[in-house]
Formats: sequence, C-alpha cells, structure tokens
Amino acid sequence: MVFKEALARLEKAFEVAKVEDWIMEILKKPKRVLKVSIPVKMDNGEIKIFEGFRVLYNDARGPGKGGIRFHPNVSEDEVKALAFWMTIKNAIVDLPYGGAKGGVKVNPKELSESELERLARGYIREIAKVIGDYEDIPAPDVNTNAKIMAYMLDEYEKIVGRHMPGVITGKPLSLGGSKGREIATSLGGFFVLNQALKVFGIKAKTIAIQGAGNVGGNFGIIAQENGYKVIAISDSKSAIFNENGLNVKDALEYKRKNGSFKGYPKAKEISNEELLELNVDVLVPAAIENVITRENASKIKAKVVLELANGPTTFEADKILNEEGIIVIPDVLANAGGVTVSYFEWIQNRYGYYWKEDEVKKRLNERMVKSFNDVREIAEKYKVDLRTGAYVLAIQRIAQAIKDRLA
Ligand code: NAD
Repeated sequence: MVFKEALARLEKAFEVAKVEDWIMEILKKPKRVLKVSIPVKMDNGEIKIFEGFRVLYNDARGPGKGGIRFHPNVSEDEVKALAFWMTIKNAIVDLPYGGAKGGVKVNPKELSESELERLARGYIREIAKVIGDYEDIPAPDVNTNAKIMAYMLDEYEKIVGRHMPGVITGKPLSLGGSKGREIATSLGGFFVLNQALKVFGIKAKTIAIQGAGNVGGNFGIIAQENGYKVIAISDSKSAIFNENGLNVKDALEYKRKNGSFKGYPKAKEISNEELLELNVDVLVPAAIENVITRENASKIKAKVVLELANGPTTFEADKILNEEGIIVIPDVLANAGGVTVSYFEWIQNRYGYYWKEDEVKKRLNERMVKSFNDVREIAEKYKVDLRTGAYVLAIQRIAQAIKDRLA
C-alpha cells in the first residue's frame, strides 16, 4: 500500500519529466530485496526469530544509502517505499548515492538492552554480504540510534576483519561519527525554510510543530533560538499551545521528566488535530505519515508546510493544499539534512580527518540552500508545485546516470 502511494508521485512526475518509458520501468521496481530471518537468544534462554529486510532500490548514482528501522509495522512493502524515497531524496540533494533502506519487524520497547544488541548484531550478520562502504551504507532510522550503529559497525568489522567506519553512518563520535549529526535533519529543514521564505517573500513568525522527538524537538529549539515564535508542539499523547510562544527547551524538559506534555503549566492543552489547524505561519509535521489528509487539508491555515516527517501529506491532500495556495516544502527536500550530514560523515571516515561543527553546519547550509534553489528552478520551469519539481529533478538526475552507464 505505502509503496503504491509512493509510486503515484513518481508517475505524476514522469508525465512532466519526459524521460524514456524504460527508465520508468527501472524506477518502478527495487533493484534488490533481501529478506532475512534473525534468530536471537532472549534473556530467558528462549530463541525468538525476527524478520528483517534490506532493500537496495537503485544504485545508478552510487552506493545505496538509507537507514535501518526497528518497528512492529516493518514490512517488505514499507521498506521498499522508504528505499524508493531515499533514492529520490539523495538525488535531490545531489549526493553521490543511490537509495536503500532496512528494517526489522520488532517492538524494541519489549526487548532488554542485551537482547537489542544481539538482534542488531544478528541483523548485520545476515545482511553483511550486501553492505559495504562502496556498496550500501546503512544509518539510524525510527527506533535505532548511534548506540545500535556502534553494535552493528563492531559486528561488521569483526566479520570483515578490518576497520571500515564508512560502512555505517550515524555512529557515536568515538567511532567516527560526525559532529552535528544529531540535529542535522532539523537544522537542514530550518535552512530550507529560511531560503523558501526569502525566495517567496513571505514574512513568518509563528510555528506549530507536530512531534517532539529528535526532529521536532530540535527544530523547535533551533527555530526559537533564531527568533521564531513556537506556539504549539505535540507528541503522541498530547499537544500544547500558548499564543505568546512556548519556551521549547523548558517544555521538552517537562516532557522528559513527566513522560508527556500533559499537565504542562505554561500552556493550554489542545488536540493533535487542533494543532494542525492552528492559525500559524508555518506548520511543521515532524512525527508520522499520513496526518494531512483529504479530511483536514482544507482546514489548514498555515502559509507554509515544512514536511520534516516522511510522508505526512497524502496524495489527495496535496492537491487541496496546492489549490489553497499553501506552499508545501516536500519531505524529500525538507528532511534531507540528516542524510546530507551522513554523507559528510562518510567523507570524513574515508579521509580519517574530522571537521569542526561550524564546518559541518556551513556545508549543510550551502547544500540545503542550493537544493532548494534547484528544486524551485525546475518547479518554475515546468510550472508545477515544489514536490513535483523535486521528483522531476531527482528523476532527471537518476535517468542521466542510468543512461551514462548503458552508453
Ligand atoms: P522520534 O521517534 O524521535 O519522534 C517522533 C515524535 O512523534 C515523538 O515525539 C512522538 O511522540 C511523536 N508522535 C508519534 N505519533 C504521533 C501522533 N500520532 N501525533 C503526534 N505526535 C506523534 O522520531 P524522529 O527521528 O524525530 O522522526 C520523526 C519523523 O521524521 C519520522 O517521520 C522520520 O521518518 C522523519 N525523519 C527523521 C530523520 C532523523 O534524522 N531522525 C531524518 C529524516 C526523516
């Protein structure tokens, strides 16, 4: 289902991009799908078998690149869609990568730390044959983090018998991680937003954010530090609103101590639906997929939607937002800051020379601004929305690489 929805956007862009039909045929299917079975010894001595995937969607522009997700809803269909989006995203920010993604069907919250470590190591043993710093390079995604990347890197290096830090990104600094990786998705989104506001001549002050995890939380802090007024933020349990602006750090600290924003004394509680429909300048979905739908799209009042989550707007909602004249900065561009700093990490690993945080931020800003300008230029040229423009740009870049290989 998710994969079918992902392909609908591809087809729309193909009508505009005018590339050969056989390129479309290539891009409608993943190059390789690896399905693995991972036996893990649990703490009580039982053996449990987990299902995992690694999909290399396309590698015409370079090695595959994309994260590993640990989630009960992981399926072949979902991993294929996520790998497809990575292919598009990596081409938009012009990284020398194809696209890939991995996942394990598991609820990590039900596992102890040592069970999680054995699962992470077991998964890598099963996919070790297809990954490598010039083949396919994993990274963290939902429910995986730097610590899990450390287990995975260690297992991989034991298998190949040498150090190979560039095989996985999003690592701890001690194992070759990059400075700035933690906030890269949020900061990249912030850079893109600023450029969009500048180019479209929009004055914006107020922001509402759905989701207060790594991406939403850090984005809120960055936006506030730079003079924006964050008037609402939410998590899966509650949403809070203060028209005079929240102190984001303070609200996040309250959530950390109490498990959610519920009962936060310096704001009013609202529903997650109300948050999306607030009268704000910028709406930032930064939680999960399919939250802006045919049902609520016409109630969105923001001037700009910055999609930091993957796939927050359905295909049908997109049409409505466009008709209403709302500018949607699409996920494949808006949240590409994370993979961009992963790319910087990979470069630093290959050189064995590490950049200062300012250097990372400066290069991230340059790349995000250029990527926005590239997308906007294509959107203008073909008179389409930014999302279609982004897909057209990606398809043209990937098509060129496919053709150059076959020439
Ligand atoms: P996270 O798990 O750290 O945070 C997710 C947040 O969303 C949490 O605050 C959670 O409570 C909230 N949430 C979950 N369901 C919700 C609901 N129904 N309504 C409101 N809030 C809800 O995850 P993250 O790393 O911040 O990722 C968020 C999104 O950004 C995902 O779509 C992810 O794919 C995307 N993304 C993340 C990165 C990255 O670098 N972390 C990069 C690109 C895209």
